[in-house]
Amino acid sequence: MDFAEWLKKFTSVKTTLSEPMKKHTGYGVGGAADYFVECFSVRDLRETIYAAKAFGLPVKLLGNGTNVLFSDKGFRGCVISLKGLNTLKTENGAVFAACGVSLSALSGFCVKNGFTGAEAISGIPATIGGALKMNASAYGQSVSDYLVCANVLDGDKFKTLSKEECGFRYRESDVIKGDRAVLSASFAFPKKDSLTVKRLTEEYRSRRKDSQPCGCKSCGSVFKNPDGDFAGKIIDEAGLKGLTCGGAKVSVKHGNFIVTETGATAQDVYTLVNEIKRVIKKEKNVILTEEIEFIGEF
Ligand SMILES: Cc1cc2nc3c(=O)[nH]c(=O)nc-3n(C[C@H](O)[C@H](O)[C@H](O)COP(=O)(O)OP(=O)(O)OC[C@H]3O[C@@H](n4cnc5c(N)ncnc54)[C@H](O)[C@@H]3O)c2cc1C
Repeated sequence: MDFAEWLKKFTSVKTTLSEPMKKHTGYGVGGAADYFVECFSVRDLRETIYAAKAFGLPVKLLGNGTNVLFSDKGFRGCVISLKGLNTLKTENGAVFAACGVSLSALSGFCVKNGFTGAEAISGIPATIGGALKMNASAYGQSVSDYLVCANVLDGDKFKTLSKEECGFRYRESDVIKGDRAVLSASFAFPKKDSLTVKRLTEEYRSRRKDSQPCGCKSCGSVFKNPDGDFAGKIIDEAGLKGLTCGGAKVSVKHGNFIVTETGATAQDVYTLVNEIKRVIKKEKNVILTEEIEFIGEF
């Protein structure tokens, strides 16, 4: 029995062979994953990870794909999409969100139920899992601000991590340390009237539209901000806005965004990232480090 047959026999996941990752990532580029598995339950996620390991397949978990660049050569292993794990509810006064819930859905839920604390992050196109891994934040608000705990799968054990144990830092956390999978999270958002929450959410979304390229394929900020500075500003000052490599281009609206056109390749993005780093090192003596993650061979 091969891996796909095993999954069919023992789980309810949806498995696709040779699935192009360009269909599942912000840049809309990237080659095929040998196995693309969509999970809809925690049990199936655990079984899939277990089986992939038993079949000797590398595993990559995927939320909304807005911080990852898959190589054009694809991924020789199993990509597990978690967007099907999307329970969102209140539980003992806290908001419980499964790892595949989008921040947009979370913020919509907060508007409807009168919770404050997710207005500024509402426009980040992330899932809870990806956002917790990256400690996603915007306009001074972070996904971890009101986090009570995160439930994770650590090997074959279920664990609950306190906020402190998650070790949140700028665009980093310990939540997935040791290859843990984030399963869900609970948030203690304070109550606020729905109309005010709605108004604030709309204000933040409109601010985002004014400063970032909209309707383009991207993974948001490519580089982390160096201490006390902004990567976008540095790239802008170096005159790199509009710089192009194949179908990838430094956004003219926001220097820290690379946007892609139809026909772009992952290699175009990768080459452009390295060219930006080279120029910024030479002209500004600043070493930029990537916020986006490269997956596979470049
Ligand atoms: C237009 C645009 C605007 C953006 N604006 C912002 C912003 O304002 N602030 C900001 O911080 N980011 C921003 N981003 C970047 C991006 O949305 C964040 O990094 C986000 O946290 C990625 O979430 P994701 O679900 O897409 O993760 P993915 O890209 O799918 O995955 C990212 C990483 O998390 C891992 N992962 C995903 N889910 C899980 C899980 N359940 N368990 C364990 N590991 C997991 C993946 O394996 C991968 O290593 C923006 C992106 C875009 C395209």
